[in-house]
Amino acid sequence: MYQKVEGLILREVNYQDSDKLLDVLTKDRGLITLRARGVRSRSSRLRGACQLFCYSELTYFDRQGHETIQEAVSLEQFTGLRQDMEKLALASYFAQVAQTVSQADFFTDELLSLILNAFYALSALNRPKELVKAVFELRVCLIAGFAPQLDVCPVCGSSQPDGFNVSQGSVQCLNCSGLEGIRLPVCQGTLSALRYICNQTPKKLFSFQISDSALCELSAVCETYLVTQMERGFSALDFYKTLLIP
Ligand SMILES: [Zn+2]
Repeated sequence: MYQKVEGLILREVNYQDSDKLLDVLTKDRGLITLRARGVRSRSSRLRGACQLFCYSELTYFDRQGHETIQEAVSLEQFTGLRQDMEKLALASYFAQVAQTVSQADFFTDELLSLILNAFYALSALNRPKELVKAVFELRVCLIAGFAPQLDVCPVCGSSQPDGFNVSQGSVQCLNCSGLEGIRLPVCQGTLSALRYICNQTPKKLFSFQISDSALCELSAVCETYLVTQMERGFSALDFYKTLLIP
C-alpha cells in the first residue's frame, strides 16, 4: 500500500551501490527513514526532490522491509543554503538538533514548522545567521519543554535583571546570589529579544531588529542554554564554529 507524506530531509546516508537512506521529518509521522533507490545515479528522477534539506512530497511503499520512495515532488529546495558554506553548516546543526528532539517524541508539527521557517529565513530572507541560530535554539528549547522564566529575578524580584542563569533556565541579576548555575550577562536589548522570541507567533519570529552587541550576548545565551538543557554537544555546531575563525 502506498503512503504519501510531506517532509524535510534531515540526513542522508549512502546505501548499497546507488541508493540512499533518508531521515525525513514529517508532520504526521514524526521522523521516518525512507530508502531512495538508485538516487545516486545521474539519470534518477528522484534526484532533485530527494536532496538533503529539501522539503518534498514523498510517496512510498513497503518493499522487503524498507519503506521505499516511489515518487518525489520537491516543494521547497532552499537553494540559498547550498550557496553559502556557513549557511549550510548552520542548516546541518539545526537538522542535528531537530533529530535529537524528535527522537524524544516531542511535537513534530511545531518542530517541523520551526526548522522550515529557520531555513527560509536563512535561505530566502537572508536574515543574519547569528539571529536565526539564536531564535532556533531558544524555540527548540520551548518545544522540548525547557521554557525559560524571563519575568523577574527569582532572588530580588527585579523585572529588569542583568543576567540569565542557563542552568536554572531563569533570569537572575549578576549580583544576586542564592541560585547555583552558570550565569551570563544580558543587557536590556538582549532581555527584550529573549522575551520576544518566547512570545512571538512563528511567522514573525525572525523579523526583529537588535544591536550587534546585544546579538552577541543573545547568541551566547541561546547556544549555552540549548547545550546545557540538552546535556550534549553537537558536532555540526563545532564545525560551524570552525568556519567563523578568521
Ligand atoms: Zn536580582
